[in-house]
Amino acid sequence: MEQAKGGKKIESKECLECGLTFVPTANGQRFCCKAHSNGYRQKKLRERRIAEGLCPVCGSDMPKAQPYGKRESLYCEKCTEARRESKRRSRDKQMSLS
Ligand SMILES: [Zn+2]
Ligand SMILES: [Zn+2]
Repeated sequence: MEQAKGGKKIESKECLECGLTFVPTANGQRFCCKAHSNGYRQKKLRERRIAEGLCPVCGSDMPKAQPYGKRESLYCEKCTEARRESKRRSRDKQMSLS
């Protein structure tokens, strides 16, 4: 009995997100883990939205110039407010912890 010689050689690849070498388990796998695949996709989406002049967080239309801003905002009004709010909340948390 002769066994077919394994012609399939699994080549290791470099993760597009972190650059680590890994052995793909699925065809066309380009990332070492799911988190990096998601992270890369998010990054690409962000880049595309910025290029299109959309809010990188939610993808909604952004006014070119904020009426009250000194410089162009990176995010839409809603996301700017949400980020400000979460920053304020984490600062409050730190203050109450110390
Ligand atoms: Zn990775
Ligand atoms: Zn937004």
